[in-house]
Amino acid sequence: MSMDEELVFRILFISIYAVFAGVRIYYRSQNIGRTSEKEYTQKTKAITVLIVAILGYFLTVGLWIVFPPIVLIFQIPLPSVIRWFGGGIALIATALTVWIHRILGKQYSAKLEIQKGHELITVGPYSKIRHPMYSSLNLFSLSVSLISANLLLILFAISVAIPFHWITRAEEELLIEQFGEEYLEYMQTTGRFFPRLW
Ligand code: SAH
Repeated sequence: MSMDEELVFRILFISIYAVFAGVRIYYRSQNIGRTSEKEYTQKTKAITVLIVAILGYFLTVGLWIVFPPIVLIFQIPLPSVIRWFGGGIALIATALTVWIHRILGKQYSAKLEIQKGHELITVGPYSKIRHPMYSSLNLFSLSVSLISANLLLILFAISVAIPFHWITRAEEELLIEQFGEEYLEYMQTTGRFFPRLW
């Protein structure tokens, strides 16, 4: 691996990451000032695990960008083609995230909550998958970690994905409480993170 190519991957990583962060910050800002009607406040273990994993992930990203020597020991000899592939998938995941945000609209929140005038969304990506945003988020963090070829980052990306198994359980409880039969029926025809194949 030449120094030059390592630099190209670094620039690719930072650029894609910046675009994705920009998208997330934009849609989060759209959420400011909305009123919550019901909030899932119970602090679950899953949220704690998620916070630890995200902190580890961000810390590693930060170190990888500004002070590589510390995390350099975790570099693995991933073939360039896989790192480029990661970049391509990360771009696709960014585009998917924009699409999903546009469809979920004002229903989006960083919290598990029912907002004033909350509508159940079952169109676009939501017609096949109940949690497309979590899928694309995890697809992004996994694929972007491939660009870095850093094992620590890849492992943190995997550990960020795991708690969503429990978070979606709590989220679905809340949605069933709010939408009842309508959500239960919606569950019959959709997959949680991937479209149903049968
Ligand atoms: N879990 C979804 C949404 C993430 S944003 C996804 O991954 O795509 C989190 C908020 O979305 C929660 O506050 C929840 O109330 C809301 N939400 C989740 N699924 C929804 C749906 N089908 N329609 C409307 N709101 C939904």
